[in-house]
Amino acid sequence: MRDVLLELAKKIKNMCPEKDFIPLHEPIFTGNEKKYVADCIETGWVSSVGKYVDEFERLLAEFTGVKRAVAVVNGTAALHIALKIVGVQPNDEVLIPSLTFVATGNAVVYCGAVPHFVDVSKTTLGIDPFKLEDYLKDIAIVKNNVCVNKQTGKIIRAVVPMHTFGHPVDLDPLLDICERWNLIMVEDAAESLGSYYKGIHTGNFGKASAMSFNGNKIITTGGGGAILTNDEKLADYAKHLTTTAKLPHRWKYEHDEIGYNYRMPNINAALGCAQLEHLEDFIEKKRQLVNKYEQLIEGHHGIKLFKEPEFAKSNYWLQTLIFDEKIYNIDEVLETLNNHNVMSRPVWKPLHLLTHFQNCPKADLSITEQLQYQIVNVPSSPYLGEDADE
Ligand SMILES: *Cc1c(COP(=O)(O)O)cnc(C)c1O
Repeated sequence: MRDVLLELAKKIKNMCPEKDFIPLHEPIFTGNEKKYVADCIETGWVSSVGKYVDEFERLLAEFTGVKRAVAVVNGTAALHIALKIVGVQPNDEVLIPSLTFVATGNAVVYCGAVPHFVDVSKTTLGIDPFKLEDYLKDIAIVKNNVCVNKQTGKIIRAVVPMHTFGHPVDLDPLLDICERWNLIMVEDAAESLGSYYKGIHTGNFGKASAMSFNGNKIITTGGGGAILTNDEKLADYAKHLTTTAKLPHRWKYEHDEIGYNYRMPNINAALGCAQLEHLEDFIEKKRQLVNKYEQLIEGHHGIKLFKEPEFAKSNYWLQTLIFDEKIYNIDEVLETLNNHNVMSRPVWKPLHLLTHFQNCPKADLSITEQLQYQIVNVPSSPYLGEDADE
């Protein structure tokens, strides 16, 4: 196995021979980034108001087809507010995959609610709707129009599908479950800008959704996020809550509830406007990179490239190799790749195994537990997908 891994490391390294080290995902600022950021500095509009915030929100809504976008400081804040505006209350339970970035769980706790972990499917790496349905039949009951966990007595208020590495979850059966079990859907679309489910952009299906523009995401604002929703009233409320719940007035400072200072600064939004101009190009290159990786692993028994489910068009944010854990030891895989300057990483430690979540309710998580020893993300920067002569 050692030889196969060495060969794999060399081949990936050779995708970009001019670089000594191939990062997992590099931001690219070759367009109007400097110009728009300089404009903020020259005009003095760097902070909480300015035209780029409005423009970035407008462009996001236009690109995704979601009615409204509210730009915020990061994806975690976006998740927090998305959960809050749809009505997640203290003591509620919220169904989330255990196979996700820690922010999904933390945002639930910020609302005073309890994460309730469910398993994922091997074909999407996101929540398995069929397993979820069976689980709900076991542990939940709908009473007075709310879903109640029979074991804890708590209300299960919402479910948060996360589109892992940009690959859309199977949303139709999940929406069906939400309908029948009185659950509210909030999409964690942090990784899926540019990904479509049956032709519709992710983020359109939840009552509210969250996106992230952190440095390693498909586009970046330095740090940033957005709440997306097709409900105008919810969007207005999200804007109000993320701007300290201040009542509009030319000089008075009055606030009508506990708000948050979560608004995205203008200078970050300027970066975002420029980044959005590259988005289609990034996606195209990332999709070309899939073919390169496919050729690269050809003939290697026990190594598979994760491909988008048939109902989806994915942004392929992070390229994903799935190693057969009976043949490969994941630590050895990661050590070999990283030692050869091919930056690679395992999937997040499943949340139910983190100490601060270990007492949270959970379903059978056998697929999640298996995947943690199989998933390796490999270098995914858009330029790696370019043809040599481009
Ligand atoms: C990146 C990410 C977030 C949060 O993003 P930040 O902008 O880093 O706060 C949330 N959920 C998932 C799945 C993510 O990948």
